[in-house]
Amino acid sequence: MSKPAPRTLEVIRSCQLSPHMRRVTLGGEGIASFPADQESAYIKLIFPRPNAARPLMRTYTVRHQREREIDVDFVIHEAAGPASAWARTAQKGDQILVGGPGPKNIIDTGADWFLMVGDMTALPAISVNMALLPQDARGYVVIEVLDERDIPTLAPRENLEVHWLIKPHADSSSDALLNYVASLTWLPGKVSAWVACEFSSMRQLRKYLKQTRQLGKSQLYISSYWKIGNDEDQHKVEKRQDSEQLEMANEYLPQQQATPPSSPATSKGNPTPQPSKIP
Ligand SMILES: Cc1cc2nc3c(=O)[nH]c(=O)nc-3n(C[C@H](O)[C@H](O)[C@H](O)COP(=O)(O)OP(=O)(O)OC[C@H]3O[C@@H](n4cnc5c(N)ncnc54)[C@H](O)[C@@H]3O)c2cc1C
Repeated sequence: MSKPAPRTLEVIRSCQLSPHMRRVTLGGEGIASFPADQESAYIKLIFPRPNAARPLMRTYTVRHQREREIDVDFVIHEAAGPASAWARTAQKGDQILVGGPGPKNIIDTGADWFLMVGDMTALPAISVNMALLPQDARGYVVIEVLDERDIPTLAPRENLEVHWLIKPHADSSSDALLNYVASLTWLPGKVSAWVACEFSSMRQLRKYLKQTRQLGKSQLYISSYWKIGNDEDQHKVEKRQDSEQLEMANEYLPQQQATPPSSPATSKGNPTPQPSKIP
């Protein structure tokens, strides 16, 4: 299928959802060619650069889609970047060139239980995925936010524990997501895991989920959405190198059958989210 041509969309409205998250609603005439049913798909925001061979492109998630409108939720981060800077001041009537949508990465809703992990950049996609899960879905959602006030109200689910981790400094790497996930009681049955976060956290979680928990491709979607100290173009290069290294390592890996750590039976745990401070 040929790639759809980028379209110019117009800011319909914008609002601050929390201290570090801003929602921009896009529509206008250009939305007529935007396909239906694209919540959680990614789009590319295109920022033309005079005298440069290529424009800058930044990747975002369709959080909601309504008749002739989409919502895009932007993390407003400290380090300067064209997309977050644009979103910070986006006003009704502003225009933006938008490519895509690209494919959605939906969690396997037929699994026995679910694990979703991410930081604020993945909150839009995780929110869409959570809404797709069966009402009685079991498992865990672990999300790192910058501030306690960035925690949104999610519809409560009896068997889906939501855990919020507070990490006020996005520019320093940490193993908080890994440590939290590793502390969870593994539930019986087949898990489907969906993970998206900063590059180094992603690598830690990938190692844990693949090597320690022995999750195969069909059970795991894992991706880095950004990298500390890299803009999106640099991050893309790192991502490519990382996946090439991973492929090479897999090729030379002896076929081993490690036994995943056993864990006690179903954890009911504490269904009330308890934000934990990360220094
Ligand atoms: C499939 C996919 C979907 C995504 N969906 C969303 C989404 O819905 N909402 C969203 O906010 N992001 C999303 N992202 C992440 C977003 O594309 C990156 O954060 C992007 O780098 C932001 O572009 P920028 O122009 O603001 O900053 P860039 O010019 O790319 O980077 C400038 C500086 O800002 C830093 N930086 C970038 N992002 C962050 C951050 N989140 N926190 C702290 N520092 C940062 C970089 O390390 C760099 O130092 C998604 C990424 C992918 C791959």
